[in-house]
Amino acid sequence: MVLFPKFALHKTSAQYALIIAAAILSACAAPPAQNTSLTSKAKSASKPLTQMISAANPHAAKTGQTILQNGGSAIDAAIAAQLVLTLVEPQSSGIGGGAFLMHYNAKTGSIQSFDGRETAPKSSHSKMFLRKDGNKKKFYEAAVGGSSVGVPGLLRMLELAHKQHGTLPWKDLFQPAIQMAKAGFEISPRLAGLIAKDKYLKTFNQTRAYFYDVNNMPKPEGTLLKNPKLAESLRLIASGGADTFYTGLIANEIVDTVNEASQNPGGMTTDDMEGYQAKDRPPACMPYRVWLVCGMGPPSSGGLTTLQILGLLQRFDLGKMKPFGAKAVHLVMEASRLAFADRNTYMADSDFIPVPTLGLLDPAYLDLRSKQISPTKAGGRRSPGMPRLQAELKYAPSLNEHGLSTTHLSVVDKIGNAVSMTSSIENAFGSRMMSGGFMLNNQLTDFSFTPSKNGAPIANRAEPGKRPRSSMSPTLVFDGSGSLVMAIGSPGGSRIIGYVVKTLIAALDWGMDMDAAIDAPYFINRNGTTDLEKGSRLEALKPTLEAMGHKVKLISNASGLHGIRTTPQGLDGGADKRREGIVLGD
Ligand code: GLU
Repeated sequence: MVLFPKFALHKTSAQYALIIAAAILSACAAPPAQNTSLTSKAKSASKPLTQMISAANPHAAKTGQTILQNGGSAIDAAIAAQLVLTLVEPQSSGIGGGAFLMHYNAKTGSIQSFDGRETAPKSSHSKMFLRKDGNKKKFYEAAVGGSSVGVPGLLRMLELAHKQHGTLPWKDLFQPAIQMAKAGFEISPRLAGLIAKDKYLKTFNQTRAYFYDVNNMPKPEGTLLKNPKLAESLRLIASGGADTFYTGLIANEIVDTVNEASQNPGGMTTDDMEGYQAKDRPPACMPYRVWLVCGMGPPSSGGLTTLQILGLLQRFDLGKMKPFGAKAVHLVMEASRLAFADRNTYMADSDFIPVPTLGLLDPAYLDLRSKQISPTKAGGRRSPGMPRLQAELKYAPSLNEHGLSTTHLSVVDKIGNAVSMTSSIENAFGSRMMSGGFMLNNQLTDFSFTPSKNGAPIANRAEPGKRPRSSMSPTLVFDGSGSLVMAIGSPGGSRIIGYVVKTLIAALDWGMDMDAAIDAPYFINRNGTTDLEKGSRLEALKPTLEAMGHKVKLISNASGLHGIRTTPQGLDGGADKRREGIVLGD
């Protein structure tokens, strides 16, 4: 926890003291610079919007809005919306998965990051995704079935956050999802498309019966889908708390489903379930120009990599450059290469691996590394740097892909409390297995499939009890007086980091409102190709960037950015048109 603006530090945040102190000095020295432009929503509103939710599905956003209208806090709205997402966006997230949640308490100024990442069962080991012949499994060969399922973390995390910041009773937050699961919801276009194209949903009986009709055809858009089994699981958890999920009937069914899987049977125990702990970790915060940007530290790489990219760009005045012009895009790509070189090498679960968090965010280190960036020439594939404290550790890099799944929601309540939460079951429909009416994640395939490379260990290798490295980047931004400026995040695998950085730069450096910053085309470099959004105005930059030495690829992956900004005229929200989300405010 970080206290802002009083700046008192929680004991476990001690290692962040330097970073925060630097942040305070820098952030307080300059006046807060806020974009004052407004979205059409805010412009047309007769009075300023003071509470808002942006989420990936209209049912979820509506549920969150109702909770806010009934006096619920940001965390209450996030929980109720997430439970609905378990039902209506089963490809993306749910109680069978995990999440990271950033929270801002407007009254005390405290900034917290909650870790609900899945853990590897005790039976896991560093070679669990190798074939008998020692070669790596292909992705779906490993992801589908029981052995990729991590112990779900979402519910213990939500309960931990609710105990500290909830206003409405826990059980009340479950009622909308329970009612909807009983009454049914119409399959959305995106969900229908993903069901139709998925090759693995038929593998397991319970999943097939849920997503396929009696003629063995994928259920189409508009089908009313009821889920009485999920309604019953939620009813039990509503009255008994998260423990009802981690022990007893629901836990036993998860363990049996995982271990008796017809494909890749796993080795999860009821002890693994019972022993799951959500964590209240120190957030990773760093000043960027006149703002303080806070993200999720390890086991996510999201916060540290986002902050590194911004830190490396600090010496370039992006605000003076043409938005989305070749010069600015080039610089962001170059910073991104350097940050991903460090990410792929050093970042993993810090409870198992000594992640050099402080060294990676050290302004002197970033400044030195930034000197490698040429304003006119692409730098090619980068090697990791030598961050302080960890220079002697030699790890081999690893990068993971994928990203049709996962969801992000942002909420601000009337008091000004904010939630930025990214939640995931990893791949679309996770392991493809269902238990208790919800999908089970395949989060363990976020571990490196091989434990070492050329003799050097990989920091993100699988180990019992460890959390796989994530790229999820729920982010909160503050101004120099400690007031909230923005809550933002996205799904998208390791490209999440690029989606979030693009949106931060568009909103902060280029003064775009939330909707425009989210809509703006993305550009990403994960220490390889420079990926530009296909069909966007960025395509026109291809020849210029190629002439600078970039290998350009046009990609059309769907980001799912959901964000809220504060403006003097009220809240300004945006939902990514590349998915199905909406913003609702009052
Ligand atoms: N499992 C990924 C992560 O934690 C997210 C996957 C996605 O966004 O689709 O980084």
